[in-house]
Amino acid sequence: MKEKVTRKTCLSCGVCCMPPHYQDTYCDLTEKEVMRLGPKIRRLVMRPSLFNRCLSMIDGRPEVEAAIKTKTVMQRSGPFKGKELCMCALLKGTPLVSVRCSVYRNRPRTCHDAVNPGERACRDARKFWSDIAREQCGWAEDKGPVMLYRNTKKEPR
Ligand code: SF4
Ligand code: SF4
Repeated sequence: MKEKVTRKTCLSCGVCCMPPHYQDTYCDLTEKEVMRLGPKIRRLVMRPSLFNRCLSMIDGRPEVEAAIKTKTVMQRSGPFKGKELCMCALLKGTPLVSVRCSVYRNRPRTCHDAVNPGERACRDARKFWSDIAREQCGWAEDKGPVMLYRNTKKEPR
């Protein structure tokens, strides 16, 4: 069964705001976007080191101007209860239950472009994290009102 994923689903999801493995920063943004964030939030922005800037120049890669830091949060409830999750520092709430982005109206372009509700990247992220909830955190569908993929052999696309 193909799960219906809409913009509303994002409020009970948030998994595309979490990297699959630990990393210091998650979401790239431009200096212009940094300036749109309030001073309190600007403290959560990291600039590339001189070393990384030199590497970008040598490799010919576009230079990342800034990025939002991540935070590691121990989950007290929800499908990931008992697990520490690395996520964008601006994500609030419990992933796959109820979340919000602290800067939703001013969120960086990267967030608009990288993942859109219902698209492949979105479905892949939801599948990746729902498998972790089931296989590593013992979550089962009868434990809560979280819409996750069923554990069938057929991929839900
Ligand atoms: S993975 Fe999809 S449903 Fe979840 S927050 Fe991202 S875009 Fe929304
Ligand atoms: S800025 Fe908001 S939308 Fe973008 S990754 Fe962070 S929490 Fe998610």
